Amino acid sequence: MDTANKRVAIVSGGGSGIGLAITEKFISSGIHTVIVGRDEKKLQAAKTQLGDLCYPIIHDVSNLPSIPDLIRKIIDQFGHIDILVNNAGINMKKDFIDITDEEFQQVITTNLCSVFSISREVVKHMLPKGSGSIINISSMAAQYGMPRVIAYTASKTAIDGMTRAMAVELSPKGIRINSIAPGFIETAMTAKALNADPERKQKAIGRTPMGHMGLPEDVADAALFLTSDAARYITGVILPVDGGNSIGF
Ligand code: NAD
Repeated sequence: MDTANKRVAIVSGGGSGIGLAITEKFISSGIHTVIVGRDEKKLQAAKTQLGDLCYPIIHDVSNLPSIPDLIRKIIDQFGHIDILVNNAGINMKKDFIDITDEEFQQVITTNLCSVFSISREVVKHMLPKGSGSIINISSMAAQYGMPRVIAYTASKTAIDGMTRAMAVELSPKGIRINSIAPGFIETAMTAKALNADPERKQKAIGRTPMGHMGLPEDVADAALFLTSDAARYITGVILPVDGGNSIGF
């Protein structure tokens, strides 16, 4: 494939919600975008919707030993990777004492360990080029304490630390690393977490100065900005896209 002069992105969990909106935004800017996810139907629907620049790959990112092969396959096909968005994630809402070690580990493996493994493999190919942009998708759960999401909170807080550590190590080599911390965005994940819990939903909106939930496109616009040349002097930031939720009373 002749993508030598084109920008190539990977968006994990690109088949739905925020990842799909980011993919759509990238493609409308001419970025060839590989979407990695588990659900073949969702990925095929995204491909049908987004067309030629969208390349679905079915892969479970929590299968860590398989990550090097996944990235090698993408490099074999495209020759280079310019942008990585670590977006795939799961939540688990349960009382603190009811979470098993296996459940805790599952969230950490999906939301955190996969981000490390994918980034490590992608960075190996960004270093020789001396350029690249990585965005990790964090959460309000890393900005303040939220009850009943202990594993999710641990994973997203670690993502922010990893973003800073990666930024100081890799920015001197031309690779910018940033996080986006979405507030409450209308997706399948929040539908599951909030719709059956109107009190929690009201609380989330109540401390959002803009007074409503965000849309996946709101996060996608920020992602496109952070990967663009307009953000060339920005690295190591945790950017809330939250209608003010993180600073709300
Ligand atoms: P979503 O459930 O629509 O999207 C998550 C995507 O990740 C799905 O496509 C899912 O299939 C994929 N995924 C999950 N586990 C995977 C695995 N093991 N392998 C491959 N793909 C996997 O939810 P969303 O709201 O779009 O969430 C996207 C990201 O944004 C997540 O990291 C989430 O934590 C974060 N986030 C969302 C909100 C919100 O309000 N929606 C707020 C803060 C952070």
